[in-house]
Amino acid sequence: MGLAEIKARVAAAEQAAGRAAGAVTLIAVSKVQPLARVEAALEAGQRVFGENYVQEAAGKWPDLRARFSGVSVHMIGPLQTNKAKLALDLFDAIHTLDRPSLAERLARLVQARGACPELFVQVNTGAEPQKAGVLPGETDEFIAACRAMDLPLSGLMCIPPEGADSGPHFLKLATIAAQNGLTGLSMGMSGDFEAAIAAGATHVRVGSAIFGTRDYG
Ligand SMILES: *Cc1c(COP(=O)(O)O)cnc(C)c1O
Repeated sequence: MGLAEIKARVAAAEQAAGRAAGAVTLIAVSKVQPLARVEAALEAGQRVFGENYVQEAAGKWPDLRARFSGVSVHMIGPLQTNKAKLALDLFDAIHTLDRPSLAERLARLVQARGACPELFVQVNTGAEPQKAGVLPGETDEFIAACRAMDLPLSGLMCIPPEGADSGPHFLKLATIAAQNGLTGLSMGMSGDFEAAIAAGATHVRVGSAIFGTRDYG
């Protein structure tokens, strides 16, 4: 498992960027990974994990939370509106707030509970038609709409286009966040988390570099 190496690389990237030690939260993306690898990361002290699928998380994390204390699980995959309630039971953070209908549902549920997970607005920085996320030009308006619903936002999240240089996308996300007074930046994956930290990431989402390749078979 590459957890120790990735932690060391995160720390080195923080230092190289002049960021405080521990400024970046490493989210270990455990989707589709065998349980034994996830348990090994927990035993090694990792406490923040990322999942893409509500159903998979529901089958895994209630039991793991009972066995390991201080765990925090972040939803980083697309969230269907009809699974929003279950998501609030399962996750400490949601990185994929990407449309008004989901914001409205979450606002209603959060009001009834009196507690809210950390929320990140997903921005489609590459304006890719097949990709989820609010378009860059519509993000200010979407953030204002969330705030008008009393939905507290922690920051923004992006997934740059495959094969493109991520750098400009990270800078674009950081710029939109700063314009809106948001400090959280969820950006950077196995291939580009160091560049993301240089651009100001507060949360990096690293899966295969920690756990090995995912077997979807
Ligand atoms: C799967 C996934 C990751 C992790 O990807 P790796 O390349 O395995 O590090 C990060 N972010 C999101 C949104 C993902 O779906």
